[in-house]
Amino acid sequence: MSLWKCGVAGCDGRFETAADAVIHQTVEHERHECRICGTVVPEGYFAIRHAFEEHSRAEFVRAYDANSSHVRERERVKDEIESEMDLRSVVETLESRGAL
Ligand SMILES: [Zn+2]
Ligand SMILES: [Zn+2]
Repeated sequence: MSLWKCGVAGCDGRFETAADAVIHQTVEHERHECRICGTVVPEGYFAIRHAFEEHSRAEFVRAYDANSSHVRERERVKDEIESEMDLRSVVETLESRGAL
């Protein structure tokens, strides 16, 4: 079976479920400060979600010196994670651990 990669730079963590990967990213990694608005968000999935739900693609590209293939790759990861995991239960787990 294929494993979910953490994907955060310098981390080679692999997990059986998307939920485990997102919980790992949120609990184990330093927070990420959004380059567009300065909000501090968990690294990984929640950082992608923040960037794409709170900001436009154009803002993302400018602030992160990204291009359209970076954007497409992150959109793909976000969709894949969201189709696999139950976001509400992941958020509840993280809140119960005081991680969100
Ligand atoms: Zn990791
Ligand atoms: Zn932001």
